[in-house]
Amino acid sequence: MKELIETLYKNKDLDGGGLKLLIDTEDTDLLYEKAVEVRRKYYKTAVYTRGLIEFTSYCKNNCLYCGLRADNKNLKRYRLTKEDILSCCGTGYEIGFRTFVLQGGEDMAYSDKDICSVVSEIKSRFPDCAVTLSIGERSFEAYKAYREAGADRYLLRHETADEAHYKRLHPENMSLENRKRCLFDLKKLGYQVGSGFMVGSPYQTIDNLVSDLRFLQELRPDMIGIGPFLPHSDTPFADREKGSLKRCLNLIAILRLMFPYALIPATTALGTIHPLGREMGLKAGANVVMPNLSPTGVRKLYSLYDNKICTGEEAAECRDCLAGRVRSAGFELVTDIGNVKKSPLADIDTA
Ligand code: SAM
Ligand code: SF4
Repeated sequence: MKELIETLYKNKDLDGGGLKLLIDTEDTDLLYEKAVEVRRKYYKTAVYTRGLIEFTSYCKNNCLYCGLRADNKNLKRYRLTKEDILSCCGTGYEIGFRTFVLQGGEDMAYSDKDICSVVSEIKSRFPDCAVTLSIGERSFEAYKAYREAGADRYLLRHETADEAHYKRLHPENMSLENRKRCLFDLKKLGYQVGSGFMVGSPYQTIDNLVSDLRFLQELRPDMIGIGPFLPHSDTPFADREKGSLKRCLNLIAILRLMFPYALIPATTALGTIHPLGREMGLKAGANVVMPNLSPTGVRKLYSLYDNKICTGEEAAECRDCLAGRVRSAGFELVTDIGNVKKSPLADIDTA
């Protein structure tokens, strides 16, 4: 195991067999230690924070795993207005957020013009902040318009890089091909791009996870978000097993070694699967947290999976709570726009 970790640490590629051994290793001390050493080399002790604004729970899609899927008729839906969103940003700015992530279902009630108008207003009121969008699959023209309006970053997990697996998680009208097209379009347009996948989604094999790592080597994203799959009681996957915490942590460490510069969040899903999951994520190589800035009244309604944490506290309480958690893991929550240190072109040597 030591040799495999050293190979990744030296920025050399591993074959699929080596990656599989690391994904399931019980021998995690050295793996996490090396991952943290690498993150310290590029980011010292800084943990970046992003204010997450979940601005709509309407979605036209029907991803089988997600509680926001259109066919979930048990969910009370909401959308925030432009003024609501700006007010969340104002609150966030005061307590030290310098990135706002606008996330939502694929809600066609907001036209591209509406999205552009919100983005450009945020950029004009908070010029020292980054705006990240996470609103799913759109056309090249739409992504171009958002970028021209000022959007800096875009989060779109590829979810799984295996065609057959993708089909089992999504309805007929969605395709891995289009998901990938979106990601490469976003790169072309100069966004800082985030991708990623769920760990332990139904039918996922360890070979699928190796394909996910290979796809990320091809895409070279700036941000990589992973988290455990967690079932939602009003979806077709209600009775499925949740993802494994250990696999998630091992994968965070592997990602850190493979993509030294990447921005890797300790996700809410990680904090949901274990009370100290986010701290564990930071200790395995993550360097970003994404506290919730949405109005408390709607947080429970953004219901991707059951028992989601952080649905009750005000934004300032969330930030303070997270700052304490970050400190307890040995790092420091910073007020910083939190750009990637360097384009990850020098990531793992696959030669
Ligand atoms: N609609 C946009 C999209 O799909 O990219 C953004 C919002 S979507 C809710 C954000 C992410 O939530 C997805 O990329 C997916 O990985 C994650 N997610 C959805 N359902 C989940 C579940 N049951 N367990 C864990 N993560 C889930
Ligand atoms: Fe909609 Fe995104 Fe949920 Fe899929 S994952 S149903 S696109 S919100």
